[in-house]
Amino acid sequence: GDYNQKIDYVFKVVLIGDSAVGKTQLLARFARNEFSVDSKATIGVEFQTKTLIVDSKTVKAQIWDTAGQERYRAVTSAYYRGAVGAMLVYDMTKRQSFDHMARWLEELRGHADKNIVIMLIGNKCDLGTLRAVPTEDAEEFAQRENLFFMETSALESTNVETAFLTILTEIYRII
Ligand code: GDP
Ligand code: MG
Repeated sequence: GDYNQKIDYVFKVVLIGDSAVGKTQLLARFARNEFSVDSKATIGVEFQTKTLIVDSKTVKAQIWDTAGQERYRAVTSAYYRGAVGAMLVYDMTKRQSFDHMARWLEELRGHADKNIVIMLIGNKCDLGTLRAVPTEDAEEFAQRENLFFMETSALESTNVETAFLTILTEIYRII
């Protein structure tokens, strides 16, 4: 959580991707170290913050979660406004959620600042036996589109902290 300390930077990062890929649980894991199996479709909550040290600076990460707006083109431009980072999340057990990454990326690039740092996230890596998206497919897409890429599990807490730290560090590096 936040503590009584001077904030050097506030970085807005948006989560996007299909419904049920695990965006809300990734945020719950990162911000509060929580996970819920029966997470309700996100309603109302716009963002959560977490203050952390990035390269010896105090950074307040303001992470925005879609409020059940995951239908194509339903996310409003206010959501993207001021964002310096974006996490494009798919569920590695749902091929369709990965195939939709291209249009989420197009929508993001249509709204966001051109210098926005983007990370592709293949979530639910704890369900390895049900994998529908090979790591190489995602790596190839990420390389072609110039995105960072990581596989995570919000359930098992795999790579969640690392993914957020990586994007925040990269944002800090380019500002
Ligand atoms: P959102 O619609 O993208 O916000 O997805 P949610 O965060 O609400 O998660 C949708 C469902 O997937 C919920 O039942 C979660 O408990 C589950 N879920 C989220 N992350 C993971 C994960 O890393 N592993 C597994 N096995 N389930 C997950
Ligand atoms: Mg949600």
